Amino acid sequence: MAKKKVATKGEREHLSKVASLGCLVCQRPANVHHIRPIGLGMGMRSSHYQTIPLCREHHQGQFSIHNCKQEFEAMYGTEHEMLQKTLKEIENIEEANNFFNYNKGEK
Ligand SMILES: [Zn+2]
Ligand SMILES: [Zn+2]
Repeated sequence: MAKKKVATKGEREHLSKVASLGCLVCQRPANVHHIRPIGLGMGMRSSHYQTIPLCREHHQGQFSIHNCKQEFEAMYGTEHEMLQKTLKEIENIEEANNFFNYNKGEK
């Protein structure tokens, strides 16, 4: 676990959904940030499902989750809160897609 490994198809799909949400802070095009899972030490990588979308600036810029984590979390919520929000948004999108496909009579 926690070794860098190639993402599976499902993981890649999830990552692209996360990125497509746009930055949680400013809605600009985003990269995915892997949050640090509770209970794992520094430097351990979380799974591809524990990711949140952040733009370049909010990800690794001057005021970013990597450079000013405490201030960043104080302002925008903790990584884990942002993860919940991210997963919720993806869920909503999928529900909307399912509904749309259902109405088209397609799977
Ligand atoms: Zn941003
Ligand atoms: Zn990151």
